[in-house]
Amino acid sequence: MALIVQKYGGSSVADCDLIKRVADHVIACKKQGDDVVVVLSAMSGETDRLIDLARQVQATSDPRELDVLLATGEQTTISLFAMAVREKGFEATSFLGYQVPIDTDSDHGKARILDISTEKLNAAIKSGHIPAVAGFQGVTPRGNITTLGRGGSDTTAVAIAVVLKADICEIYTDVNGVYTTDPNICPNAKKIDKISYEEMMEMASLGAKVLDIRSVEFAMRYGMPLHVRSSFTYNTGTHVVKEDETMEQVLVSGVTYSRNEARITITKVPDSPGTAAGIFNPISDANIVVDMIIQNTRAGDLTDMTFTIPRGNYDQAMGIVQKVAKEIGAERVAGDQNIAKVSIVGVGMRNHAGVAGKMFDILARHGINILMISTSEIKVSCVIEEKFTELAVRALHEEFGLDHE
Ligand code: ADP
Ligand code: ASP
Ligand code: MG
Repeated sequence: MALIVQKYGGSSVADCDLIKRVADHVIACKKQGDDVVVVLSAMSGETDRLIDLARQVQATSDPRELDVLLATGEQTTISLFAMAVREKGFEATSFLGYQVPIDTDSDHGKARILDISTEKLNAAIKSGHIPAVAGFQGVTPRGNITTLGRGGSDTTAVAIAVVLKADICEIYTDVNGVYTTDPNICPNAKKIDKISYEEMMEMASLGAKVLDIRSVEFAMRYGMPLHVRSSFTYNTGTHVVKEDETMEQVLVSGVTYSRNEARITITKVPDSPGTAAGIFNPISDANIVVDMIIQNTRAGDLTDMTFTIPRGNYDQAMGIVQKVAKEIGAERVAGDQNIAKVSIVGVGMRNHAGVAGKMFDILARHGINILMISTSEIKVSCVIEEKFTELAVRALHEEFGLDHE
């Protein structure tokens, strides 16, 4: 008998029929003798709809109120799921974040989980109930509702699996597992049977939204095995596990892309100690995450600084940088929101030279100009013009030998 945490994403609970199907699957697992804790997302499109409602009434949503609103998406699905289970003659109880409780810090919209109480969940399991927990939400010490950031239900599920010491956390979604690239833009993508936490973390951080990066971080830190699979086929999906020897043989495991990028360039910055700190400290004070940074030295003690940030932070970052540029006497600030980042990921790269060169070569042969580059032990990323995203992904996927036959 195992304890399984099962998370169902928005497309898996998009309407009442699908919710009933999920209930059937959970009940089937229960009948096999396993204990199941269910974590649900809002119906697909619902979180976007709620954000849009907020925009209609307030230009910049109040963070506390926005979280109260967004948390309702998951409230709907957990209650409907519990009803569906009860209708089929089994017991289920829904739990909102504050009812568990799932304690978080008070960073509304991107709160971090601090602690999860196991008492009520364990009591529910013990009495034969299927607990249905709202993903993506928690509560602050002062009792305010928080949300964890888009895609955060994955993180709720893994965190619950960890505290309950579950045997496995299953992530049910609309594709058969983790693929060598997004199967929705590359029809030749192959399903990966087994992937290491490290590679999965890189893929998630570089745009493969099939798993929220923080869920992979949690899983890796606590050694929680993940199984990403489809709620439509219920076939075996992808196991995310500790790295083993067989994985080293693959040079490139996956290709990812992210359109959520923007770039800012400050030209002719006086090149003196403290300049970079003067530019980047105010940006980090505004909680904006800078990704790639390039500094080019010019003649005459001047330098150009280019960096990327999430596209959603572009206007705010531009405002900050323009102010700083004036203060430090830089000549000009320019920005570009039509960029994307394509990356190749693979633990096999550690022991092979020339992978980055091959990537640059492939992009060049397709007439794609590289605007920025960054590398780590197991990934190479290039910023390119956004219009070339799909072409780049497909070309890299094919030429690194990832296409299925
Ligand atoms: P859910 O609502 O179930 O959480 P998401 O939309 O968050 O689902 O994630 C699933 C989607 O992730 C897929 O539909 C697919 O388009 C996208 N995706 C991006 N990269 C990958 C990848 N490498 N493997 C699988 N899916 C990917
Ligand atoms: N409903 C939230 C979102 O759409 C959380 C999630 O689905 O994981 O981002
Ligand atoms: Mg998701």
